[in-house]
Amino acid sequence: MNYGNLFIITAPSGTGKSSLIKALLNSDSSISISISHTTRKPRSSEKNGQEYHFITIDEFKKMCNDNVFLEHAEVHGNFYGTSKYFIDKKLETGQDVITEIDWQGSQQIKLQYPDSIRIFILPPSFEEIRKRMIQRAQDTQETINKRLLAAYKEVKYAKDCEYLVINKDFDKALSDLRHIIKATKLRYKTQAIKNLELFTKLGVTNNDINDSIYK
Ligand code: 5GP
Repeated sequence: MNYGNLFIITAPSGTGKSSLIKALLNSDSSISISISHTTRKPRSSEKNGQEYHFITIDEFKKMCNDNVFLEHAEVHGNFYGTSKYFIDKKLETGQDVITEIDWQGSQQIKLQYPDSIRIFILPPSFEEIRKRMIQRAQDTQETINKRLLAAYKEVKYAKDCEYLVINKDFDKALSDLRHIIKATKLRYKTQAIKNLELFTKLGVTNNDINDSIYK
């Protein structure tokens, strides 16, 4: 039985999602991040294999045909995909995994992994997103405009997520994220599988565990 939890984090560009996740990972070594493949060109600060695996469109197409991806989508004119092998391997060995993907990918994964936890990070305002993208100084004006337009659409999908974090104050948002993760680790099935010996002593059977409505 696997007992790793899969967290799907979605947010419009410029919401501060990457900084939040980075801070979260720095303080919690039990969580791994799934590094996506993308056909987008690396930004000046990005390194291959660190933020993304940067690949060509032909490589991406081949990986799609080989069913490498758990989900894939076109976002802002580039292709992105999540490795199924990486996620499954982590979950099978009881490790928690975060994927940082768009709403299309989030919907695709939720259908295949109904126990996954979807978290949407909301910006305090669209103006704040615009300011952050300009400050980041890594995208052209055209890209910023494109991403701002997409942000208006993306926030509509927040209603599909189990949890919502508003990144108005970084520390508060980080604390909210940590609480969501902690609460998820305390769900019945996760606890039962992790503490199987105790549960067996208490007379709980594998069927009881599998029957639990909540993972
Ligand atoms: P960026 O190019 O700014 O790093 O990311 C652009 C968008 O692509 C973000 O919304 C990000 O969450 C999304 N994204 C990154 N990796 C994946 C992925 O593997 N699958 C999907 N569906 N979206 C992704």
